[in-house]
Amino acid sequence: MSEGPHVVIVGGGIAGLAAAHRLAGAHRAADAPSSTSPRITLLEADRRLGGNIRTEHFAERPLDIGAEALLARVPAALELCHQLGLEHDLVAPASEQPYVWTDRLHPLPSRLMAGVPDGSQALIGSGILSPIGLARAGLDLIVPGRPPTRDVSIGSLVRRRLGDQVLERLIDPLLGGIHAGSCDELSVRAVAPQLVAALRARRSLVRGLRAISGGSLPAPMGPTFLTLSDGLQELVRTLRERLAAVEWRMASALESLEPVPGGGARLTLAGGEILSADHVILAVPAFAAAAILAAACPQAAAELEGIAYASVATIALSYPAEAFERGLVGSGFLVARGRGRTITACTWSSAKWAHLAGDTVVLKCSAGHAGNRDAVDLDDEQLLRAVRADLAQAMNLRTEPLLQRVFRFERALPQYAVGHLERIERIDAALSRLPEVSLCGAAYRGVGVASCIGDGQATADRVLASLRGASDSVEREAVSR
Ligand SMILES: Cc1cc2nc3c(=O)[nH]c(=O)nc-3n(C[C@H](O)[C@H](O)[C@H](O)COP(=O)(O)OP(=O)(O)OC[C@H]3O[C@@H](n4cnc5c(N)ncnc54)[C@H](O)[C@@H]3O)c2cc1C
Repeated sequence: MSEGPHVVIVGGGIAGLAAAHRLAGAHRAADAPSSTSPRITLLEADRRLGGNIRTEHFAERPLDIGAEALLARVPAALELCHQLGLEHDLVAPASEQPYVWTDRLHPLPSRLMAGVPDGSQALIGSGILSPIGLARAGLDLIVPGRPPTRDVSIGSLVRRRLGDQVLERLIDPLLGGIHAGSCDELSVRAVAPQLVAALRARRSLVRGLRAISGGSLPAPMGPTFLTLSDGLQELVRTLRERLAAVEWRMASALESLEPVPGGGARLTLAGGEILSADHVILAVPAFAAAAILAAACPQAAAELEGIAYASVATIALSYPAEAFERGLVGSGFLVARGRGRTITACTWSSAKWAHLAGDTVVLKCSAGHAGNRDAVDLDDEQLLRAVRADLAQAMNLRTEPLLQRVFRFERALPQYAVGHLERIERIDAALSRLPEVSLCGAAYRGVGVASCIGDGQATADRVLASLRGASDSVEREAVSR
């Protein structure tokens, strides 16, 4: 066991695990933990690790019912898979063709940037917009525009440039869907800064997006997403296995902390146990960090409490192959907003991922939306009925499923509301008075798994630098005495 400073990581979701991996120096193969490496304890309130990463055995397949795909464009996740020797288990989708459900299912154009299609040809062919919607979107090329001088919602910017239909049928299902939120509430600076950059480059949003991406909107080079063939829980399991020196404390929730004069913090766990730490990394949802910091830093706690969360449900269903006369070709569909539907998306899991193909067809639907608990408050029976009614309408799927199961994620997806980045600055400023505490995870700088991994790693690097700085100054003091 290392004799170095003691770092307690709170939260065993992917951000906390990535921070632990980095702190342990395990990302550098040659760097065995030394006496100066920190001693690491990880506290997890639940009995399992992974948080919103959760793979379940469903229809004899490893189905990710939380996060399922790693965004290839953000390198941290794929790099971590390589460091862990999981690169051979990474798989690309067998189909990357999604549809959007408006009146019926329409194929989404392939060249999109932040949900904005490249010119009108692909869009006309898709049938997603009505002729009026197309004409309105075309005004973007004519109507003069200026970048917003302050943060606004994605909705207000896109509705102004491209009209309501582009927002509700393309951008909201894609960008709002990632957050289970509404683009009329989400911050353009935090969620889609490319839209602001585009309007800085050109008066038109479409032309500006082309300009900042060097000509035309990028055709996808290689897969946009990847996953692990045994499910993303494999990443969690491998991290747990590799971090043998970490002290794992499961079913251990941190309740509060207080700074200790002279440095470090005293931690109180639910149940009353006390721990001491030289540094604490809170890799928990913002509302949990708010509760922990309520006494030690009320200003930061109040800001953290202000980050709203969406609760969602995932509904897994399996069907006999004969239920789909023409088979399923594509990765699934997103649902256009404002049409009173229960589901927000449906992944055709066994068609999208080759490793999930089998004798039966597996579909995975999502329900639940920020600010609207109608779907998640239904009991399982009611929710399943509503989901099947949507599938009957969207896909003409009227066969009874062989298996069906509901999984719930309460307060799972943080909402980056207008002013989110300023809120993060205020949290950082308040926490500068508590240098022994750091925050990381989905609430701050990106909700995707890859962003959470990057945030956990960057936080660990800062903690290591500050611990090194502290030990250097202790050594200097000792020498000068
Ligand atoms: C249904 C769903 C589908 C998604 N799909 C994708 C996808 O396909 N691709 C993608 O990139 N992202 C996806 N996401 C988003 C992504 O999964 C999450 O944003 C990410 O996993 C969050 O990681 P995290 O470590 O920040 O937080 P979490 O996963 O929330 O982990 C936080 C951990 O902290 C623990 N905890 C809380 N309070 C305490 C306490 N007081 N003491 C100790 N422990 C505590 C919790 O139990 C939890 O384990 C999805 C999310 C959901 C809900």
